[in-house]
Amino acid sequence: MAKRQNLRIPPPPQTGLSSFNVSDGDLELQSTRGKIVRMLPDAHLVKIGGQSIMDRGKTAVFPLLREITRLRKKYRIIIGTGGGTRSRHAYSVALDLGMPTGIIAKLGESVSRQNARILHMLLASHGGVYVPNDHLEMLPIYLASGSLPILAGMPPYEYWEEPPRVGRIPECRTDAGVYLLAETLGVRSLIFIKDEDGLYTGDPKKGKKVKLIRKISVRKLLALDLEDLIIERSVLKFMADAKHVRRIQIINGLKPGQLGKALRGEPVGTIIYKNESL
Ligand code: ADP
Ligand code: MG
Repeated sequence: MAKRQNLRIPPPPQTGLSSFNVSDGDLELQSTRGKIVRMLPDAHLVKIGGQSIMDRGKTAVFPLLREITRLRKKYRIIIGTGGGTRSRHAYSVALDLGMPTGIIAKLGESVSRQNARILHMLLASHGGVYVPNDHLEMLPIYLASGSLPILAGMPPYEYWEEPPRVGRIPECRTDAGVYLLAETLGVRSLIFIKDEDGLYTGDPKKGKKVKLIRKISVRKLLALDLEDLIIERSVLKFMADAKHVRRIQIINGLKPGQLGKALRGEPVGTIIYKNESL
């Protein structure tokens, strides 16, 4: 196979889209060159976990929101929400009743939306504004006005959700949705707020001896093939092809101060980064 850098890249087609063959390898390679527009390079996308934070109620949610309302004065923050136990319940009923993946994805979408609405209510007096997917183009205005935009994390694939290789639960849920959004917007950082100090070698809630991983590349993490992860596996798959979001951070939202440190760029929690040679 020809080396990429030695390839002669043809000029863009002059005759309009009708002559553009979307599966033309050369043109595809051409599209990997040049700068990709970052829509919101100053914004930080912060995912608030459904099960790990929201479902714990006010003991977990209120201190975190207090921290966010303080930090939003200094940083441009966009919030994405998870689903949590309510979506798991919907999934289990739907699975039992023989529902296909597209329906299960549709159900999950509405639960992450519930959490976005709850956060909107709680943050309304601090600039919280709920942003439906088809109002995404309003994000720059909301951020410029000092608002705190809140979006449902589930990607809107819904009925068009790809069937997973195994079973019927959608592989792209709220972690993946927030990642894809961050990648499209070209945000400065993507921070996942969960209820553990980061990624361990196994689920710390299962009682086995596990070790915290402070920093790891996507490639190494995939090679470890851990039994369970703190983020959806599909995020790693997307990160391997990242154009913008080459680093994600997972922090403990039950520990005050972690979000501020992460926004300052400090290596708190776990950092997963894209290995360029992947
Ligand atoms: P969210 O609320 O954002 O959806 P989840 O509940 O889906 O978060 O995922 C967080 C949970 O993942 C943690 O509470 C932890 O019990 C579990 N977990 C599974 N595997 C791991 C791992 N390798 N390291 C850390 N946590 C893990
Ligand atoms: Mg989850």
